[in-house]
Amino acid sequence: MIDLLPWHRQPLSELLARRDKLPHALLIHGHQGIGKTEFAKALAQSLLCEAPEASQTLGTSEATEATEFKEGGIACGECNACHWFRDGNHPDYRELLPENLVEEDGGSDADTPLEADPKDKKKSKEIKIDQVRALADFMTLSTHRDGFRVLVIHPAETMNMAAANALLKTLEEPAARTVILLVTDQMARLMPTIRSRCQRVLLPAPDAKAALAWLAASGVAHGEAVLAMAGGAPLDALSFATSDYQTERTSFVAVLADPAADYMAAAQSFEKFDLNHIVTWLQTWVGDVVMTKLADEVRHHVDDKKALAAIARQVQLPKLFRYETELRQARRVITHPLNARLLLEQLLISYQRAIH
Ligand SMILES: [Zn+2]
Repeated sequence: MIDLLPWHRQPLSELLARRDKLPHALLIHGHQGIGKTEFAKALAQSLLCEAPEASQTLGTSEATEATEFKEGGIACGECNACHWFRDGNHPDYRELLPENLVEEDGGSDADTPLEADPKDKKKSKEIKIDQVRALADFMTLSTHRDGFRVLVIHPAETMNMAAANALLKTLEEPAARTVILLVTDQMARLMPTIRSRCQRVLLPAPDAKAALAWLAASGVAHGEAVLAMAGGAPLDALSFATSDYQTERTSFVAVLADPAADYMAAAQSFEKFDLNHIVTWLQTWVGDVVMTKLADEVRHHVDDKKALAAIARQVQLPKLFRYETELRQARRVITHPLNARLLLEQLLISYQRAIH
């Protein structure tokens, strides 16, 4: 038995029940932060496993017919194939992902921000055509273990146009027993020609009860708060709870709360932070300034009411609204490669202008 996110067990079993009739390309989509890539990998491992679990009928504790489901076909975690898969060297399995998401071994935590940044910038955020071409032999030669051949592509929307076109050829003329699993939470950014050649699998988000139970079992103390912050996405909630997220957020908000702060120096100290997070923090903060000004209400930063009131007294609403527009525009470009430091500086300078 392999480790699975609890809400994956049923949809995984349903797919594996038709393992011999699976289409050659599945597009696994759904809400961000619910473990779609983990799901795709569990499916891949289960297809490659040489001793998958037998099928059995299960149900919830208050087992009614509606909650019963057949479970089975999931990877054993013990056979040779499972060991190779876990060690990352199963000969009939490949993953395709952008360079910037490839995990490196050997921590580079000791790097100072100034040293680390230029390296990060060189890493592509796109899946490139060379990466697709490099799979040509893997996709066409016969398999090593006489079973499935599985390719996982995640996040699929990071394929650039040339890479996606190269993949199309494979999708049109797939080799036998080949399963390509594309993973995305941004369906609209995939080429229509890619979408139309895949069967869609919607991975459902867990309900709040299941998500909270899993967070509690993962050692998260204030599950409800982080789950709300993560918009109901349990994996995001776990990373918020366990990473430096809270510390980073606190230090960033402290700068926003101080109109006399040195924003250029701040930009430097925040440049390793996730820009997505930063834009969210700016949006919720400015939202609270507007709410304070209009209705003397605070939605997100209840501990900073005094600072918000001081800023709200001196601001002009049209300036804030213009800044909110700028933030929405920034949101659209932060996933593309660009100079993150420059954007961060610009957002902070605009913030300073908006509140004075
Ligand atoms: Zn196995």
